[in-house]
Amino acid sequence: MTAPIVTRVGWATHAGLRRSLNEDALLAQAPLFLVADGMGGHEAGDRASAAVISELADLVGRPAVRPDEVRSAIARARSRVDELSGDGSGRAGTTLSGVAIASLDGAGYWLTVNIGDSRTYRFADNELEQITVDHSVVQELIEAGEIAAGDAQSDSRRNIITRALGAGSLSEVDYWMIPADTGDRLLVCSDGLSSEIPDSVIGDVLARVVDPQAAADQLIAQALQRGGRDNITAIVIDAVYVTTRRGTDDQGNDPDIDTRPRTEVFGGAR
Ligand code: MG
Repeated sequence: MTAPIVTRVGWATHAGLRRSLNEDALLAQAPLFLVADGMGGHEAGDRASAAVISELADLVGRPAVRPDEVRSAIARARSRVDELSGDGSGRAGTTLSGVAIASLDGAGYWLTVNIGDSRTYRFADNELEQITVDHSVVQELIEAGEIAAGDAQSDSRRNIITRALGAGSLSEVDYWMIPADTGDRLLVCSDGLSSEIPDSVIGDVLARVVDPQAAADQLIAQALQRGGRDNITAIVIDAVYVTTRRGTDDQGNDPDIDTRPRTEVFGGAR
């Protein structure tokens, strides 16, 4: 089996300017591109994010993964983080966001996974779109109409997340299948990037810097320039070639399945 999505990837991670330890962890090897942002005192966050990434790393090297394989690996990862909390590490926890290369009848899909407030964006046709939805207090306030999206970055509650792996959370991971296209550029990042740089600047770097490694490096540099108050991680993934199955099926329907919640049910999609 050949890979349904051929990628080029660049990544960078930095402790930032205020913290001595980098509790972010990442996996940037096909078919998995993931960021985990650990939390919890006494290095618990570091161990939590590392445990989750090492569990998922078992799937590296395959042309594509099945959704059930990713689900099982994340379930095992969650147990490992829960065990950390049991050995005196406090309430160890971590976010997890990113994509896995998946295939449906041979066509390439981004299996998007998300829990917490790390983010996955897609930059396509010169537009930046956040394809994950944050599990955060601020996101809930935006959806309830209590604060404006533009005020989120300055809100004092911006670091409070409502779902995690570990940290006493039993909440669900979002899994969405998104049809991939040749030329897609994805960004997976921790909140140390997205809370430091506005989306307009992220979009500008992704538009301007062709090489994915140079783009990841520039994003980190921008976040540091703006204060670097948290650990910062960025993975930039370019879909160099995607096997697609466009057109209509026997019944005249578009066969591409996009399982993201639709805009009209956005507020209730949790
Ligand atoms: Mg963070």
